[in-house]
Amino acid sequence: LWITLEGGDGTGKTTQAVLLAEWLRDGGREVLRTREPGGSEVGVLIRDIVLHHRGDVAPRAEALLYAADRAHHVATVVRPALERGDVVIQDRYLDSSVAYQGAGRILDPVEVRELSLWAAEGALPDLTVLLDLDPAEARCRLDSADKPFDRLEAEREEFHARVRDAFLGLAAAEPERFLVVDAAQDPESIASAVRERVAALLG
Ligand code: C5P
Ligand code: MG
Repeated sequence: LWITLEGGDGTGKTTQAVLLAEWLRDGGREVLRTREPGGSEVGVLIRDIVLHHRGDVAPRAEALLYAADRAHHVATVVRPALERGDVVIQDRYLDSSVAYQGAGRILDPVEVRELSLWAAEGALPDLTVLLDLDPAEARCRLDSADKPFDRLEAEREEFHARVRDAFLGLAAAEPERFLVVDAAQDPESIASAVRERVAALLG
């Protein structure tokens, strides 16, 4: 079973990934928690380029770097784990590319999606949890958490509004893959909604 978590910065994806992994492990499952960009050794190098040279990398080059990270991650980390029978819980996947490199920037979201699907040989998760939150609220959370790396500050508010709308559009287009959760709720309520859906998938 492959579960991805999507949403803007500061929406609580990592918190939910940790809670879900704990719950599954308590139930005796093998769980791999991973992320993009940076879910492999090569990916960590790519993550460093895309995050620390943001703004200097041409939009198409940036999209290709995310796709390269994805191709290597799916081939060397995700697929082997799924073949072992692990539950894979992943922070961000191709929907983030469509939302950020596509709708967020100037690239065509359809082309960005095609590029990602090519990179990942068409692999799509069984479930994608979209944590939906007003970007202004997300920004407050990041500020109060005193995150070391200025993530939201790097982009304008309007960019984050486009990213949010893109995520919601993706969820509406594939309702069977997505679970959209109001990320303004407390973490435990969100976790229980996620568990309910995952339990149904595990049968
Ligand atoms: O979720 P995480 O903290 O790992 O994301 C790192 C940064 O990379 C975030 O600021 C996010 O907005 C950005 N990102 C992006 N395009 C992606 C994935 C992440 O711009 N496809
Ligand atoms: Mg996170």
